[in-house]
Amino acid sequence: MSTVDQEIKLLRKELQEHNYRYYVLDEPRISDFEFDMKLKRLQALEAEHPEYYDPTSPTLRVGGTVTKNFNTVRHETQMYSLDNSYSLEELLEWEQRIQRILGQVELSFTCELKYDGASISLTYEDNVLQQALTRGDGIQGDDITTNVRTIRSVPLKLKQPFPGRFEFRGEIILPLKGFDKMNEQRLANGEDLYMNPRNTASGSLKLQDSSLVAERPLDCLIYGVAGAVMPLSTQGAILEKARDLGFKVPNTARVCQTMQEVLEFLEYWDDHRHELPYETDGVVVKVNELRFQEELGYTSKAPRWAIAYKFKSEQALTRLRFISYQVGRTGAITPVANLEPVLLAGTTVKRASLHNADQIARLDVREGDMVYVEKGGEIIPKITAVDLSQRPVLSQPTHYITQCPECHTPLVREAGEAQHFCPNDTGCPPQITGRIQHFISRKAMDIDGLGSETVELLFQQGLIRNYADLYILTPAELLPLDRMAEKSVNNLLEGIEASRKVPFEKVLFALGIRFVGETVARKLAKSFGSIEALMAARVEDLVQVDEIGERIAQSVVGFFEDPVKRELVSRLRSYGLRFELEPEQLLTGSELLKGKTFVVSGVFSGLSREELKKRIEDNGGKVAASVSSKTSYLVAGDKMGPSKREKAEKLGVPIISEDEFLALLG
Ligand code: AMP
Ligand code: ZN
Repeated sequence: MSTVDQEIKLLRKELQEHNYRYYVLDEPRISDFEFDMKLKRLQALEAEHPEYYDPTSPTLRVGGTVTKNFNTVRHETQMYSLDNSYSLEELLEWEQRIQRILGQVELSFTCELKYDGASISLTYEDNVLQQALTRGDGIQGDDITTNVRTIRSVPLKLKQPFPGRFEFRGEIILPLKGFDKMNEQRLANGEDLYMNPRNTASGSLKLQDSSLVAERPLDCLIYGVAGAVMPLSTQGAILEKARDLGFKVPNTARVCQTMQEVLEFLEYWDDHRHELPYETDGVVVKVNELRFQEELGYTSKAPRWAIAYKFKSEQALTRLRFISYQVGRTGAITPVANLEPVLLAGTTVKRASLHNADQIARLDVREGDMVYVEKGGEIIPKITAVDLSQRPVLSQPTHYITQCPECHTPLVREAGEAQHFCPNDTGCPPQITGRIQHFISRKAMDIDGLGSETVELLFQQGLIRNYADLYILTPAELLPLDRMAEKSVNNLLEGIEASRKVPFEKVLFALGIRFVGETVARKLAKSFGSIEALMAARVEDLVQVDEIGERIAQSVVGFFEDPVKRELVSRLRSYGLRFELEPEQLLTGSELLKGKTFVVSGVFSGLSREELKKRIEDNGGKVAASVSSKTSYLVAGDKMGPSKREKAEKLGVPIISEDEFLALLG
């Protein structure tokens, strides 16, 4: 064996182990930085030596393959659905039924949570992942192997020898934190929000570009295995074996000797399920002994040896008083259900989301209806059903509005979009004030002394019609206004004055171009350097930039083609706002810290904390607020909080000083 061959093998093994520790056990041993260095080294070696190609190499996790059509493939063993039960009585009836069939034997049960995601079947042959199929109709599913390979908790190779051909069955889920993060990003970019983690997980699996799947924080939880020969004798042993083989098997599962223990499990998780990092919608109770499972067999749809006990979702029944419509800063219309106040999971709920016109039509929800309101993982409660038995006699179907509720412009709905839009972006009041509020927000121009209420007031008084107007406000105009004492007028004007120094990338974000969030703005600013260059860019030029797709590019070009927007930009320039990168940004900008996440804490002697963060970002790094297993470095100053240090030490995150940080940049 050559030394290169050895090094490649060693790196693959090490990376596989670290990957497992990080994604399956959640107990990383090395920092992200070290991991990246090893991965880069392996990538380089593999590129130089294609003869050592291995389909299980950790370098293949990043994806890159594009699948136009997913092939339909037959499952070697059928994938069943589960029978449901909604009460303890039904569950006890199930137990009696199987006892009758088996002839009153002594048996045990396993209880597992019912993870709410998309079912998956993973075929391994002699330890290597061969294929990943969706459940489909149970008989055949779609081949989504290229996408599933990018999910870090799916082992490409098993950790222990398990010879033969097996289909591991599990659920691909999107943990709530990851889901919220994805939505925060969508919100910042002015895009529609994802409805729930389950649909987002199954939608992600069908993306054509696997590198996009690789970026989504998907996870795979295993609950079973099928194979022609089964070397194990209980469901409990299957779970343990799967865990030993390197799969993620939640340790919430229990083997129960009696129905009493099963009931205790149900009771416990009915109360505690919201403490889990992902959504669950019930408990699956299974006969533990495989020989009894075999004896019980299957109906055409589901195993007789298992039953799902569905949690009662936290829901309440209340009257829908009326539907109102909100207009966002991008003109997107959101229908809102205004409810008779009702207590739900400890809080009083008065409003619920109706998402869009399709959702209203699907539910056939009408004003005056009694509706079920539910709280899922999402923050805003939603309406899940209508109690038709209580529908008022004179109830009228809901006609979705056709005109903007604020400016009466006819609404438009583009092909493929779920949301209706008010196209009157320059004349529609909530769009105008929404854009100004975005402009002054902390992550954009960060104008102190100006809140959203003041923006409303200034707009109503006819003092501002767009964000450029802020820069020509005078004390004489402001002083006569309600609640505008001399001090607050001064604060406001000083805040506006100070905003002229805000760097280009923030100005670009502040402009409120659709789909241009903070990160995209930073990328564009760095790549083009100035607003002239950006305004001259065509779609073809824009898509050359890393992570800028067709849709963002179109939006940017469209924005700068609009004479109204051009006029605004030219006014802002004449007021002295920054429309190009500072010389030092052009000099220091590098990718040295790409892929690394820093937490900055404490007081520093050289650079200010803000300057430090800027250095990190200018060199391609990321700044996070709190220490986690994803943190590459904690940059520590004086008076750093002890909890941050403790956490970093516990997770093995390197703690470095300001000087050490600067040394990283050479
Ligand atoms: P259903 O789709 O409601 O018929 O439920 C069956 C599905 O539940 C299966 O296809 C699995 O994907 C999913 N499921 C989630 N957690 C489990 C579990 N612990 N055991 C078995 N199936 C589960
Ligand atoms: Zn409007």
